[in-house]
Amino acid sequence: MQYELTEEQNMLRAAVRKIAEEQIKPGVFEADEAERWRPELIDILRDNGLLSIEFPKEYGGEDAGLLAEVIATEELSRVDGTVGNISAGHTLGALPILIAANDDVKKRFLPGISTGKDLCTFGLTETSGGSDVAGFTTRAEKKGNEYLINGNKIFISNGTYADVSTVYAVTDPAKPQHQKATVFAFRMKNPDGSFVPGYSVGKREIKMGLRTADTVEQVYNDLHVPAEDMVGKEGQAFAIMMKTLDFSRPVIAAQALGNAQGAFEEAVAYAKERVVFGKPIIQHEGIGFMLADMAIQIESARQLLYKAASVLQELSKDINVRLTPEQVRYSSMCKCYATDVGMAVTTNAVQVFGGYGYCRDYPVEKKMRDAKVLQIYEGSNEIQRLVISRTL
Ligand SMILES: Cc1cc2nc3c(=O)[nH]c(=O)nc-3n(C[C@H](O)[C@H](O)[C@H](O)COP(=O)(O)OP(=O)(O)OC[C@H]3O[C@@H](n4cnc5c(N)ncnc54)[C@H](O)[C@@H]3O)c2cc1C
Repeated sequence: MQYELTEEQNMLRAAVRKIAEEQIKPGVFEADEAERWRPELIDILRDNGLLSIEFPKEYGGEDAGLLAEVIATEELSRVDGTVGNISAGHTLGALPILIAANDDVKKRFLPGISTGKDLCTFGLTETSGGSDVAGFTTRAEKKGNEYLINGNKIFISNGTYADVSTVYAVTDPAKPQHQKATVFAFRMKNPDGSFVPGYSVGKREIKMGLRTADTVEQVYNDLHVPAEDMVGKEGQAFAIMMKTLDFSRPVIAAQALGNAQGAFEEAVAYAKERVVFGKPIIQHEGIGFMLADMAIQIESARQLLYKAASVLQELSKDINVRLTPEQVRYSSMCKCYATDVGMAVTTNAVQVFGGYGYCRDYPVEKKMRDAKVLQIYEGSNEIQRLVISRTL
C-alpha cells in the first residue's frame, strides 16, 4: 500500500504551481475588483492540458485520474479562487456524458471536451431551489426525432463561455421525482460563436466572491435537441446527477483547500513580519496558536481529500455500477470538511492581518469571499451532512 503521491503527481503539482504563479496570478486582483471575466484563463487551462486531466485517452484526454485533477485544482486555487470554477464546471458538465452516454454521443461530444477545445457546463439548478430537484420545471417534450426544451436554469458556471452544455429536463412530469427527468447534451454555439436558436443567457449574477466567474441564468426557449443526443435513458437524470456529483465534489474540496492554503501562506508571512508589542505577532500565543490550528485543519482536509479521490478514481463511472454508501460518504465528507476548513482558515487569515485583512489592498479578504460559495454549491454542506448521515 502506497501512502505518498507518485513522482508524476508531485511533478504535476510543481508544473501547475509554476503555471498558476506565472500565468494566472498576475491580474487576479484587478479582475476581481473590476468583476471582469478573464477569457485568457480558458486558453491557459486548455493549452496546459488542465481541462483534460480526467478524460479518457481514447477521446484525447490525459486519463491521469481524479487525484491528479484534485492536485491541479488545489494549485490553481492557491493563487485564485475563481479559476478552479472554470475547470470544475467543465468536468461537472462532462461527467453525465462519461457516466451514462452511449458510444455515439460520446464520440460526438467527448473529443472536443476532452482536449479542452470545447468548454463544458451543467445546467441543473432552478429558482425553486438547488437542493431539491422535485420542483424543477425545465421541460423537454418529444416532437418526432427531437426534444424541445423550455425553461430556465440559474447560477450556471461557464453558462456564457462554454461550448457544450448538459441539461437536466423533465420529460414525464407524471412519473415519480426520481424518474421524471432526462439529461441532454447540446452545442450552445454556432460556428460564428453566437448562441444556437433556443438558447440564451439571462441574468448574470453579481456575487460576493468568485467575482470573475461566469455565473449566469441559462434560458431555454424551444431549444431543439436531437433525440440521439439524450444522455443515458429517458428518466435516468436523477441517477446520473447523483453519480455526477459523487465524482465532482472532491474537485470542489480541492478549490477550498487550495484557496485556504494560499490564505494560510499569506497569514504566516504577515505574522512573521508584523511587529506589535515589540515582537512579531506569530510570537503572541493567540496568533501562533491560531496559525497552528489552521495548519492542522488544512493538512487534515488534504489527507481526507486525497483519500477520497484515491478511492473514487478506482471506481467505474458507468451508470450501471452503483457506488457503496462508504464510497459516496467519502465524496461528501471531503467536500463538506474541506469547504468548512476553507471558510474557517480564510476567516482567521483576515483576523491575522487585523484591519488590513479587511481591506482590498491585501489579498486575504478576497480569499475569504471566494471561500464562502464552496460551502454552498455542488450540494450545500447541509445536504452533504444529510448524505453522510444517511450512509451511517
Ligand atoms: C457561484 C455559483 C455557481 C454555481 N454553479 C452551478 C452550476 O454550474 N450548475 C448548477 O446546476 N448549479 C450551480 N450553482 C447552484 C448551486 O449548486 C445551488 O445554489 C446550491 O445547490 C444550493 O441551492 P439553492 O441556492 O437553491 O439553495 P436552497 O436549496 O434553496 O437551500 C437554501 C438553504 O437551505 C438549506 N437546505 C436545503 N435543504 C435542506 C435540508 N433538507 N436540510 C437542511 N438544510 C437544507 C441549504 O443548505 C441552504 O443553506 C451555483 C451556485 C453559485 C452561487
